[in-house]
Amino acid sequence: MDSKQDPQILQGLGVSPGVAIGRAVCLSIHHLEVYRIPIPAADVDAEVARLRDATQQTRIELEATRKRAHEQLGDGLAGIFEAQSMLLEDASFVNRVEERIRTEQVNAEWAVHKVSEEFLDRFDNLESEHLRERGDDLRDVTRHLLRVLQGIAHHELSELGSDVIIVAHDLTPSEAVRLGRQRVVAFAIETGGPTSHTSIIARDLNIPLVTGLDGVADLVTDDDPAIVDGTDGIVILHPLKGQLAEYAGRRKRQGEQEQRLLETGSLPCVSRDGVAIQLMANIDLPEELDDASRFGAAGLGLYRSEFLYIERAPELPTEDDHVSTYRRFLDSMSPHPVLIRTFDLGGRKLAREVMATDEENPVLGLRGIRLTLARPHIFKTQLRGLFRAGVGRNLWIMLPMVSARDEILAFRAFAAEVMAELDREGIEFSRDFKLGIMIEVPAAAMIADVLAQEVDFFSIGTNDLIQYSLAVDRNNEHVSYLYRPLHPAILRMIRFVLDCARDSDVEVSMCGEMAGDQRYTALLLGMGLRRLSVSPRSIPEIKNQIRGLEVSGLAEATERCLTMGSAAEVERCLDSYLARQEPLT
Ligand code: PEP
Ligand code: MG
Repeated sequence: MDSKQDPQILQGLGVSPGVAIGRAVCLSIHHLEVYRIPIPAADVDAEVARLRDATQQTRIELEATRKRAHEQLGDGLAGIFEAQSMLLEDASFVNRVEERIRTEQVNAEWAVHKVSEEFLDRFDNLESEHLRERGDDLRDVTRHLLRVLQGIAHHELSELGSDVIIVAHDLTPSEAVRLGRQRVVAFAIETGGPTSHTSIIARDLNIPLVTGLDGVADLVTDDDPAIVDGTDGIVILHPLKGQLAEYAGRRKRQGEQEQRLLETGSLPCVSRDGVAIQLMANIDLPEELDDASRFGAAGLGLYRSEFLYIERAPELPTEDDHVSTYRRFLDSMSPHPVLIRTFDLGGRKLAREVMATDEENPVLGLRGIRLTLARPHIFKTQLRGLFRAGVGRNLWIMLPMVSARDEILAFRAFAAEVMAELDREGIEFSRDFKLGIMIEVPAAAMIADVLAQEVDFFSIGTNDLIQYSLAVDRNNEHVSYLYRPLHPAILRMIRFVLDCARDSDVEVSMCGEMAGDQRYTALLLGMGLRRLSVSPRSIPEIKNQIRGLEVSGLAEATERCLTMGSAAEVERCLDSYLARQEPLT
């Protein structure tokens, strides 16, 4: 694979560890590559006919999607596809494209691309927000039409070869899921922070990911040989033979290290001085269940159920899909608990598809429990599935993005209606589950004493808690240096939540990525946390860390850390304590 070109080393953020060697496939360019190809006068009619066929085909596809969306999600979402279809009916758009093909004698793709640009310019300059929003529809429909013209099926990824390194400007969590299941060995993208959902998915799938690679999508050409080092955040384009050999060696050593850690799977999760810690798994994709069992997870501390939807979008999972998925999890983890979080849709996760509106600031918008309470037809199906799946099983239901007590009360009232309906239908279901909430909004953390009166358990979601408390977008690589789990504000909030949980006898765990980072294990145990939920692949490392710690001395050291005024001081304080610990022999 040694390349004729000089090697080029790019430094980004390593957000999913591991080394991969392969060849680049540029995602964004594949999707929208449009060339200007002159057409002989004799072929112009055929080119116009090709455009008409593609337009018709796009309409048929949009109509099918609209129908499905209407049946499953109601009018709101269906409206998007209807609006897109209408743009294709609009004679001013289609006629203008045909005119360009004829007058300029160019290919249909180029004409569509140029006319769309013309229209978008007009939309972007409009005063009316409503009309400006039509710009998004035009962008989507143009992409769709271009894909049809280019003969690339919608989301068709199956032609990928082996050892593929996906290079893109951006990658959504659902794209990461779909690509990760193909023969993709690494991702190299421009945007995203360590706790973005795309990064979490890459770690779930054990695929190295480097983000923050400014301009990488323009720099790389398809089939360029490359190395991705997701541990150190490095991408090497056109590597030399020596570099290839060095990284192949690293990859081998990492595999061996993983193997050694795996052997701890069956060891008890107990600290050096005998304190038992419950180490559970976070699951996003059903295939992670095997890893959770293999690595000895004592239950699931978070199932992000929205991924059930993300995988099927725009179709919603049926009630039976919910029942069978949840039962599978509950049965395979029995007798341990399984915490199923109700849909945390909205924010960046499929806001547009489910809500049919664009939000100015979706992360502060209709997301999580706010969205599900506002869309009872979607929520009811999920709750019926949960209540049915819970019969005779250790089910814990968890609500995301709770910011006020009223949301818990509203949930209870709605759940009672759903149960009454199941009762009337004579369907067997469980009332015997635990109800809990994510503590991931600062307001919830600050009233943890009040919320503790309403629920059986808390799970601290540091990914959002840090984002909202420190005003640092978790998806934004430019501010990721400010995303500091050890910030004193975060530690004080965690401490307060733990105190409130203890005082009210409420169970508490942590499922944010902070729990899966071994640098923080000592501090979390020192603060009194005894239940952690981490991605399955992090279990061996965290268990190993726990087995090496003396928990008895940690409380005092943690107290000192909590008096520090900055994340850097906390880190120094913690490091100096741990350096004085006797090493494990
Ligand atoms: C969190 O916010 O910490 C969390 C676990 O939820 P998510 O990452 O899905 O937002
Ligand atoms: Mg969250």
